This record gives sequence, C-alpha cells and structure tokens, in this order.
Amino acid sequence: MKAILGTILNGYHSLLHLLSNSKGVNILMYHRINDDFPPSDLIISIKKFWEQMKYFKKYCDVVGIEELCHMFENKGMRCRRRPQVVITIDDGYRDNYLNAYPILREFNLPATIFLATGFIGTDKRMLRYEHMPVPDMLSWEEVKIMKENNITFGPHTTSHPHLCELNYTEQRVEIESSMHTLYQQLSQEIAKSVFCYPYGEYNEDTLKIMKELRIKIALTTNYGINCPHENPIELKRISADGRDGRTDFMRKLAPDIVMDSSGENRS
Ligand SMILES: [Zn+2]
Repeated sequence: MKAILGTILNGYHSLLHLLSNSKGVNILMYHRINDDFPPSDLIISIKKFWEQMKYFKKYCDVVGIEELCHMFENKGMRCRRRPQVVITIDDGYRDNYLNAYPILREFNLPATIFLATGFIGTDKRMLRYEHMPVPDMLSWEEVKIMKENNITFGPHTTSHPHLCELNYTEQRVEIESSMHTLYQQLSQEIAKSVFCYPYGEYNEDTLKIMKELRIKIALTTNYGINCPHENPIELKRISADGRDGRTDFMRKLAPDIVMDSSGENRS
C-alpha cells in the first residue's frame, strides 16, 4: 500500500489524474517570472515556469478568462476528464513580456495579466522593487503585442492600493479608472467584466462596487479550488510559489490527497 501511495505522491501524472475526478477550476496566480531574484512566493524562475506550463499543456485543460466567466455565469462547469486550469499573472511586470510570454507562446496557452494600470508605460516601480532598473513594468506596446497572441488583460486598480484603507468613493475611482484605461487602450469588453483585488484585500464596499459595475468574476488571493457554487466575485486562487518543489506544487493542485510523513493517505 505504501509503495502505491509513494508512486502516486511522486508522479505528476497520477496526481493530475486523481485531480481530474474532482469538480472545480484551479486558478493559478503568478507575479514575476525572473531569474534575477531568489525564488519567493512572488517570484518563480524561468525554468520552473517553463516546466509548469509544459505539464499544464500535457495534462490539463487550460482555459481562458472568458471561459471562466461563462462557467460562473451559466453555472456551466462541466466535469471534465482533465483538470481545468486558469493562468493569471498579477501587476504587469516587464518580465511577463520578456520571460513568461515566449513560454506561453511556445505552448500556445492562454493567460490573463491583471494590470495596475497607473504603472504601465511609466518608470514607476512597485514599492518592493524600487531598486530595479526602469522600466520594470510593461509598456502599452508590449501589452498590445501580447493581446494579439492569446494573452488577455484585466484591471487591477490604477495605483495598487490597499482597498480596505480607502472609503467607498476612493475605491470606486481606483477600480473604475483602471477599467476605463484598459478599455481605452485595448478595446476589449473583458476589461469591464473581470477584476483582481490588489493584495487580495476587499471589504463590503468593494463587493458592492463589483455588483454595481456588473463585474462577472473577481479574483482574491484566498487559497483553494473553485466549485460551481463559488461566489464569482470572491474566486480563490492557488499561488505558484517559486520555492515549491514539484511535489509541493502538485499537492496544492490536488489538496484532497493529503499524505503524512509515513506516506499514509489521510484524506
Ligand atoms: Zn497586485
């Protein structure tokens, strides 16, 4: 029995096969794909990103953000033979274009980048990356090139604030202005349908604004796989931590399979 469980634990394919029996959609969350930093919860190496995309291509159904909207609009989440995965990248760092985009193209995978629109096409940097050479964020030209090739863009506010520290009006301005800028630049309806909360933070006012603006889906940083009955403006995600080994990562995708140190299945 232990030998069998060990095989499952070590095998990507076996885990994914088990996962495929569970209903739900895994929304993966990335930030930076970059070899210039040590791996962290927000930074993954180019090689590891390539490996993960390769496995998704081979063993999963990678769906785009429009299809994700459909699933929750129509409650049309089908039980598929293969696990469903959505690839999302937050903020809009330039390494998304330089390092992630070629890999996404190589495997022809759809992905969605949520842009803090006030940083795009400027020399502004996110606080934690103030030491980085500029430009550290995407240009609108790079965004438009990716848009033509299977990459979708969603709003992530203008200045990337902690929304819970803002009042209703301030929140609404941050959210609406980023939607507006994105739609002006790309003329894609999807910019008005989806949203991603900076730092995963939101409160009652934020949810009220989501409903008023008829946002179909909004993404949090709350951990988990999404079932058909999930609140579509509080969707969960799975963080692709750059420090995760292959098994750690697969465990995140298939949490039903919980092993203790002796290899016994506790689920
Ligand atoms: Zn962010």
